[in-house]
Amino acid sequence: MIIRQVAEAFQALEGTTKRLEMSRILASLFRATPKEEVDKLIYILDGRLGPPYTALDFGVDEKFLIVALADAARASRSRVEEIYKKKGDLGLAAEELLRGAGRGLNFREAFEALSRVAEATGPRAHERKTAIISDLLQRSSGLEARYIVRILQGRLRLGVGDAMVMDALSEAVVGDRSVRADIERAYSICSDLGLIGRILFIDGPRALEQIRPQVGRPILSALAERLPTPQVVIDKMGPVQAEPKYDGLRLQLHKDGDNVRFFTRRLEDVTGMFPELAKAARQQLKSERAIVDGEALVYNPETGEYLPFQITVRRKRKYGIEEMELRYPLRYFAFDLLYVDDQDLTRKPLTQRRRQLEALVQRHVDDPIQVTEQITTGDPKALERYFVDQVALGLEGLVVKKPDSTYQAGQRSFNWVKLKRAYRAELRDTVDLAVVGYLVGKGKRAQFGIGSLLAAVYDPEHERFRTITKIGSGLTEVEWAEMRRMLDENRTPTRPPQVDSLIEPDVWSWPKYVLEVQADEITRSPRHTCGKTGDEPGYALRFPRVVTFRWDKRPEDATTEKEILEMYSMQTATEVEKPRRVAGGRKRAA
Ligand code: ATP
Repeated sequence: MIIRQVAEAFQALEGTTKRLEMSRILASLFRATPKEEVDKLIYILDGRLGPPYTALDFGVDEKFLIVALADAARASRSRVEEIYKKKGDLGLAAEELLRGAGRGLNFREAFEALSRVAEATGPRAHERKTAIISDLLQRSSGLEARYIVRILQGRLRLGVGDAMVMDALSEAVVGDRSVRADIERAYSICSDLGLIGRILFIDGPRALEQIRPQVGRPILSALAERLPTPQVVIDKMGPVQAEPKYDGLRLQLHKDGDNVRFFTRRLEDVTGMFPELAKAARQQLKSERAIVDGEALVYNPETGEYLPFQITVRRKRKYGIEEMELRYPLRYFAFDLLYVDDQDLTRKPLTQRRRQLEALVQRHVDDPIQVTEQITTGDPKALERYFVDQVALGLEGLVVKKPDSTYQAGQRSFNWVKLKRAYRAELRDTVDLAVVGYLVGKGKRAQFGIGSLLAAVYDPEHERFRTITKIGSGLTEVEWAEMRRMLDENRTPTRPPQVDSLIEPDVWSWPKYVLEVQADEITRSPRHTCGKTGDEPGYALRFPRVVTFRWDKRPEDATTEKEILEMYSMQTATEVEKPRRVAGGRKRAA
């Protein structure tokens, strides 16, 4: 396939915000793609060269691209800069500078060239990267160059998410959505849409059934619903297995002999950041191969206390791991076993998975890897007592699970329910919101050019972000400045296609960052689109403030519109017991 076809389809995708139309464009692009190249196209649509859990670093910044572009266009650097300034987008500048028909560049060749750019390391990497990019651009037409430059910048931004790719794949292969559910199931097990596309096109939809968990490929995390009280939990779920809810970092552990890897729930490979856990896994896990689900936490050995989420995440920063290791040792609480020695456990009941997990982990009191404790009960009073005990220990609450449930990868279901102390008092649970833009404002911070953030929940069914609040507090001045810098880096001149908003902020920003936000309550509001249907008002947050950044979440992992509606009904159900307004909530160290 020539890259021209891909570039034209990208242009058509950019030209519409209608989901159905976008999915149609994608489906016909898939149909036109040779079978062996479908996986590559799927990765490129995500701005990548492989699935999300593989590293991607082109190692080129803007200055670098300007040099390569000047070289390809035989123009001076200042000329490139001038056009870039005029266009406000380096991709558009490349298009103007390289006007012309291109040379029928092949999509596969372009993909390979991009891979070579990413792979070039070592002393002369810079020159080699420039030469490859410059050659690639010289062989491209203007439109093709637009997208090559954006891919290299990490700014392809077509508004095409996983769900749309899955829709389009089904359309392309069978002409309708009838294999969409099978695609999603396979995706939740292997997290690699490229692989799925390849299997679909080469072996057909039935071959998807053969996709099984495999060490090294993260499985999408099962997620929990919310319920307000132990009584409601037992009424709805019957007897449950209840476990402490740790406020740490969700990590999936993959062991293959001595090779141990860790993945976050946004599918990042963070192995390098947890060396002591990898070592512990080699020593403590008795099987050759295993995939374990759990929560990592730092603890203070002097007090025996577990430290909050933020400190766990701070460890993730690449530098100073050793120092952090000494100051804050890690614990990993394993709560599920998804795969062990060639046995797929995701379809087995929780009770069996748990039994095998206990047999797998060899442990003494002070070992880094522990298996979460648990009780099984059908008595609301016993559940309440267990809950109170955990909260007294400083934990968030409980996660209660249906003993006979399978592991629902990638799904938020009532197989798992979180019962948090935040629901107990009059306090609300926090929500995680994607930032879609900012307003300059008039107050004190207007001098910094940022007054409030426009924040949104996610609606996975329509793959859109719907606004719920403007946030003006909770960050320090330094954090506001940093926030502005980050949002400016992702600014777009018009509303991103996947954002549904009635409010027009001063600056639109491509959804990328997630903030955890505490608010006093959820109210109905005509100004926000969250939960809005027809002329009915939507939902908004009252007195929102930022609690922390959620680096571990992608924007698509933000609280969903549906969860807000559920929280709203829980809130109105407990309204009678709510005599006063209380500020605060789950506290996390800054
Ligand atoms: P929250 O912000 O409330 O932690 P979340 O959006 O990060 O929620 P949820 O799926 O809603 O994620 O809540 C479940 C999370 O709780 C899991 O992702 C996991 O990180 C954490 N957790 C802590 N202890 C447990 C446990 N024993 N079993 C399952 N999950 C647990």
